[in-house]
Amino acid sequence: MRIILLGPPGAGKGTQAILMSQKYSIPHISTGEIMRSAVSSNSSLGKEVKQYLDQGNLVPDDLVNKLVAERLAQADCNNGFILDGFPRTVAQADELSLILDKLKLKLDAVLQISLAQDVLIERIQKRGAMGSGRTDDTAETAIKRLSVYMEKTAPLIGHYKSTNLLKVVDGLGTIEQVQDRISKSLGNI
Ligand code: ADP
Repeated sequence: MRIILLGPPGAGKGTQAILMSQKYSIPHISTGEIMRSAVSSNSSLGKEVKQYLDQGNLVPDDLVNKLVAERLAQADCNNGFILDGFPRTVAQADELSLILDKLKLKLDAVLQISLAQDVLIERIQKRGAMGSGRTDDTAETAIKRLSVYMEKTAPLIGHYKSTNLLKVVDGLGTIEQVQDRISKSLGNI
């Protein structure tokens, strides 16, 4: 199964992606995690990436696209993958479709986890206060990340709706409830 998880920061994409990755035995590819591991390596690339992350801005498309193309070409993606946090811009979505065409692969679904803004901000702040260790989980950066999402990523919803791949799941409730909604919405895929 090849799937994209779409949704604002704090919607629970990462949590659900881990569960789906176990259920379907396919890799969970989180571009946020790829970025954070670049930062913790303290390389010059990592230092550059850290500035974008800490300000709640997106890392430039060229850089992210290259890392994702390399990751998707690895053998463990042959049976499928869950993309979490990518694509995040229309340019990234265009690049993804080129990458998949080259690999002769097709997406099965784009799953949007939807949640109201006030709940999102509360969740991110709580995650930061509980020690997520993420320097971008502050109230200020959360608001910035949400506005970046609305401006740059939300347009992808319309983009994937027109390809008939989009499925929308309500992100409010317990982890298990959301997991259940996702399983039902994916059905026989
Ligand atoms: P969240 O969904 O909570 O914002 P992520 O872990 O997905 O968290 O992303 C954290 C940060 O990593 C983003 O704010 C952004 O700076 C960077 N990032 C992740 N994915 C991308 C991407 N596809 N394009 C550009 N920047 C990205």
